Amino acid sequence: MYDHRRLGRELELFGTDPLIGAGMPYWLPAGAAVRHALEEYLRELERRAGYQHVYSPVLGKQELYEISGHWEHYSQDMYPPMSIGGEKVVLRPSLCPHHALIYRSRGRSYRELPLRLAELGGQCRAELSGVLGGLTRVRAMQLNDAHIFCSEDQAAAEALDALRLMSRAYRALGIKPARYRLSLPGPGGKYVDNSQLWQRSGDMLTGVLASAGLPYEPGAGEAAFYGPKIDIQVADSADRETTLSTVQIDLYGPERFDLDYTGADGGRHRPVIVHRSIVGSMERAVGHLIEVHGGAFPGWLAPVQIVVLPITGAQAADAAAFASLAAERGLRVEVAGADRGSLGSRIRDARLVPYQAIIGEREAAAGHAALRLRSGRRVPPMPVAQAIERVAALVAAHTTELWDDSDAGAA
Ligand SMILES: [Zn+2]
Repeated sequence: MYDHRRLGRELELFGTDPLIGAGMPYWLPAGAAVRHALEEYLRELERRAGYQHVYSPVLGKQELYEISGHWEHYSQDMYPPMSIGGEKVVLRPSLCPHHALIYRSRGRSYRELPLRLAELGGQCRAELSGVLGGLTRVRAMQLNDAHIFCSEDQAAAEALDALRLMSRAYRALGIKPARYRLSLPGPGGKYVDNSQLWQRSGDMLTGVLASAGLPYEPGAGEAAFYGPKIDIQVADSADRETTLSTVQIDLYGPERFDLDYTGADGGRHRPVIVHRSIVGSMERAVGHLIEVHGGAFPGWLAPVQIVVLPITGAQAADAAAFASLAAERGLRVEVAGADRGSLGSRIRDARLVPYQAIIGEREAAAGHAALRLRSGRRVPPMPVAQAIERVAALVAAHTTELWDDSDAGAA
């Protein structure tokens, strides 16, 4: 594995500046391209799975977090309140309270459940400067978050579906869990004191893990303050574990916000909240992807997907035409012309780019391009439009494979 901080600098993915501050990285164009591709993928994955996306602000009144319980149980991780116009406002430590208010913004019927609200939203954590580093420990992050408001009967199935979405995303991203952890409360006063609530939600999550057939280890003292969670742990380059994905069944938040819905019986019922994040924060997810792939991202995530290599200056116009057609098709493409050195050295410079399109005299005359994959494999020359279509199809499929030899791929 690689150190994402070193690669982040070398590949110009992200940077930091002491004037912005520790734990507050900025994203350079190449890193922003990776993150944008990841965000688009997640939104589409969620949309197809029945989620609806919302936006909510990164600030909220202190009172909101007093109601949610964050103020009592989590304030050591929060920034101090700011006073404005006689109100106290804080940077939010999580999106849950905002989503609970969106749920509560009007009456809800059992017919609307499960209501899956998703957001790629900002949140802040008052991390101490000693633990900050790269993209993995930051003070402000963008979270791939969702809250599923459902009946208690629906909660286990929703949590199981969330685990399935995670497996699917991990396959597309080319990453693997180090282990699954059932995070439970530990000693100390930071957890909500209600043993019956912990027992019920803990039993539900244990049942979910059993249905999924996943081996797991319990983690005492790793629960959220309001409930137990299933955490998917990944290992970093120094073999330290971090949590990337999480699923929680929450019986506490609905009580605190007095959430309800009208049941089929016409009566008032309390929903359950399933909190889930498929890949955690964009910062931690991209940091992990850099380490796992050493900068050689799957084709659909790569900052530059195709580099066009004209063999001599005589093919410059053909290379430019290839690039504009590929860009038109939505691919991220660059031309590395003969002025940048020998073909061999340009191929070496582009070693992390999934596809290299080589155009020499013969290819130019025939309207062809010779694709070379990052692995070194060469594909026989084919018409330019066909080469672009085949790469675009692989990118659209979000696969980690760089080529498809099947007839479908050749069609
Ligand atoms: Zn939440």
